[in-house]
Amino acid sequence: MTPQPTTSAASLATGSADRWTELDRLHELATMVLNKHVNDNGWCAACTDVAFPCDLAVLAEHNTALL
Ligand SMILES: [Zn+2]
Repeated sequence: MTPQPTTSAASLATGSADRWTELDRLHELATMVLNKHVNDNGWCAACTDVAFPCDLAVLAEHNTALL
């Protein structure tokens, strides 16, 4: 029998790395939305006939606040 203490440590490290990638992607997505949905004289620059902040901008702002 050969003990393999490094295996569990490696899988733990991989798991946390995956989680960070997921958070990074969410953060990137939220940043992209916020860059497009900006205040244009009180209206959203990306949505048509929607006052700023639109639902997407509010949602993205919440996401960046959580991350
Ligand atoms: Zn918008």
